[in-house]
Amino acid sequence: MRILLTAGPTREAIDPVRYLSNRSSGKMGYAIARAATQAGHDVVLISGPVCLAPPEKVEFVPVISADEMYEAVESEINKVDAAVFCAAVADYRPCMIESEKIKKSEDRLVIEMEKTRDILGSARSIMGFDGILVGFAAETRELEKYAREKMERKGCDLLVANDVSRSDIGFGSDQNEVKIFSRDSEDPLSLPTQSKDDIAKSLISLIEKQ
Ligand code: C5P
Repeated sequence: MRILLTAGPTREAIDPVRYLSNRSSGKMGYAIARAATQAGHDVVLISGPVCLAPPEKVEFVPVISADEMYEAVESEINKVDAAVFCAAVADYRPCMIESEKIKKSEDRLVIEMEKTRDILGSARSIMGFDGILVGFAAETRELEKYAREKMERKGCDLLVANDVSRSDIGFGSDQNEVKIFSRDSEDPLSLPTQSKDDIAKSLISLIEKQ
């Protein structure tokens, strides 16, 4: 199979020196990239800025912003059999990027934001992708409810949900604990705390079964 993966955070510029981002380390996405190549698949890894070296044997497409990630996905998605959206894409970005560094003058600074395009949500509806689609959901409450809702809304076959309110797993950690929801089964597959590498291997074999 040929698999597209998105990983890491995005950075949304405020001015030439500042940006808004999030705590995604990219570790989960890079682990999936490694597991996929080890299982003999071809991987296109579209990654936001992270402190990790790109895994061997992947086609690596570095991007910075949500908009750049959208464009990269759009040009690659219809060449793959499965797409796994692991990136923590910014939901909002500043409406305009100041061309000069904002000076520290006022006591309060208001930055107007606008929604970024939902890449996963556009995969089927706008980009016309008809392969296996896998989304991620990072929630701090009502994990199951939001996960199922997201799977339906975004047209995913599988949705990997993790609870990011816990500090021992998830963001930045080498361990994770997830529930994998599938379109064709009532109960999610619960994977207890384990390495991101092991979670990645289980996810790749689920994708192969799909
Ligand atoms: O709706 P929410 O952002 O929580 O959905 C998370 C899923 O959607 C993840 O798979 C993430 O990679 C993807 N996503 C995306 N583009 C966005 C926002 C989220 O691909 N702009």
